Amino acid sequence: MEIAIDLHIHSALSPCAEDDMTPNNIVNMALLKRLDAISITDHNGCDNIEAVIKAADDRIIVVPGIEVQTREEVHLLCYFNEVDKLLDFEDIIKDKLPNIKNDPKVIGNQLIIDEKDEIVGERQYMLISSIDMSLDQVLDEVQKREGAVVPAHIDRSSYSIISQLGFIPENLGIGMLEISQNNNKHFMDLPNDRMLFSSDAHYLWQILERESFLTVDHLSISQIVNTLKHSR
Ligand SMILES: [Zn+2]
Ligand SMILES: [Zn+2]
Repeated sequence: MEIAIDLHIHSALSPCAEDDMTPNNIVNMALLKRLDAISITDHNGCDNIEAVIKAADDRIIVVPGIEVQTREEVHLLCYFNEVDKLLDFEDIIKDKLPNIKNDPKVIGNQLIIDEKDEIVGERQYMLISSIDMSLDQVLDEVQKREGAVVPAHIDRSSYSIISQLGFIPENLGIGMLEISQNNNKHFMDLPNDRMLFSSDAHYLWQILERESFLTVDHLSISQIVNTLKHSR
């Protein structure tokens, strides 16, 4: 079956995302757009993922995710079958973040929000910077937890695997690659089944319509993560 997805959405935890990217606003917008599955992929953090899953309440699939910035300044989307595996992975990330205090006035707020859309806290240290882990190390830790790694926005001129490394190492066992513009589908002449189109939404209106599809046997988180791991 083909499912409509948007697997790259930032919540208000990401300082560059709008403060109204709350769990309920994201879920309701995704439902309005009649999507089958979404993922919340904040920069180097995942404090709002459980609230989004609770807000979704089985009305839409929410894949546990995170967008990591490696030492090489490559953005990698990491997806997991279970929240616990994501939280376990985030424990490692937390230790690898630089100790730079976030200045909300300059960089933006890093809000922790509960399933009722109430602000319950704020991350004090800056989430948007490179962690002290290489691309290989991130891949290794994600794969240990049976997750999928998808290099983000490979068609962009910054923070992408192509802009930073100049190529996609084929020995890493990466399945799919994300492009940020639907009209770039033929970027690098890669086969369509390796391409994942997502919004990278920082504003509610940026969340996709039914325009990006994934072929899965049935609608479940593990099916989606498995498909992202191994392109067909
Ligand atoms: Zn990114
Ligand atoms: Zn992003």
